[in-house]
Amino acid sequence: MSNKKRFSLLLICMMALVMVLGACSTTKTNPSGGSAESNTAAQLDQIKQRGKLIVGVKYDTKLFGLKDPGSGKVEGFDVDMAHALAKSILGDENKVELKEVTSKTRIPMLNNGDVDMVIATMTITDARKKEVDFSDVYFQAGQSLLVKKGSPIQGIEDVTADTTILAAKGATSIDNIEEKVPGVKVLEFDNYQDAFNALKAGQGEALTTDDAILYGMAAQDPNYEVVGKPFTDEPYGIAVKKGQTGLVEAINKGLTDMKADGSYDELYKKWIGKAPESK
Ligand code: GLU
Repeated sequence: MSNKKRFSLLLICMMALVMVLGACSTTKTNPSGGSAESNTAAQLDQIKQRGKLIVGVKYDTKLFGLKDPGSGKVEGFDVDMAHALAKSILGDENKVELKEVTSKTRIPMLNNGDVDMVIATMTITDARKKEVDFSDVYFQAGQSLLVKKGSPIQGIEDVTADTTILAAKGATSIDNIEEKVPGVKVLEFDNYQDAFNALKAGQGEALTTDDAILYGMAAQDPNYEVVGKPFTDEPYGIAVKKGQTGLVEAINKGLTDMKADGSYDELYKKWIGKAPESK
């Protein structure tokens, strides 16, 4: 190869290298603002394009989300909240698809993209805030105990390390009671109906979770009652995938509007039977 040819080849190679490097640097400085994951309105845009909200709710929790095995209908405070948000975000309360979540599956289902949001008796905690984002508080509950009528347990002060307590996996209730009563025995179930059946079968002396959920169980069977004062604060929030601030803002706007127009109080009275206490 002549020197001239060698020089032209070198020149071509250098030009190709410059072009490749140039292409790389344009990708890095892409003015479109990066990938879909970093777009804080991506989930909200997807909901609007799809034309419906996909909401994770409980199917085993009377008053919040309970599936009637006969009619197949899922009903409760959280379900009505899903419809109200569909109205606020999409202009039609019927544009909702419900999917079942449990206390254990709700965060994985949200982060897998199975649901847009979770409205499922979910307490806002610092630990959970590392995994998901939350709306403003939409319900105030507190942890309590459900026992068979006539039980010697009449409040948290009667629970000892020898007591067997029943609870649902993934609920804050487990850590809370273990902290209040070190060494207490806790049997964990996949959902609340299984935990309640275990209480009825005498597998433990008390079932623990939020008072609002326990009142729903007591309403299902008059042989059981909620005892003692709530011993924790459980502020419920609507969870969305981390970083989806556009969706959180849309949800918070819906909540604010519902509080302003009286529909939040109506919903509360419908399921809880009295007006919400102002804190
Ligand atoms: N609110 C509590 C929690 O988020 C207990 C109720 C539930 O299991 O959903 O864990």
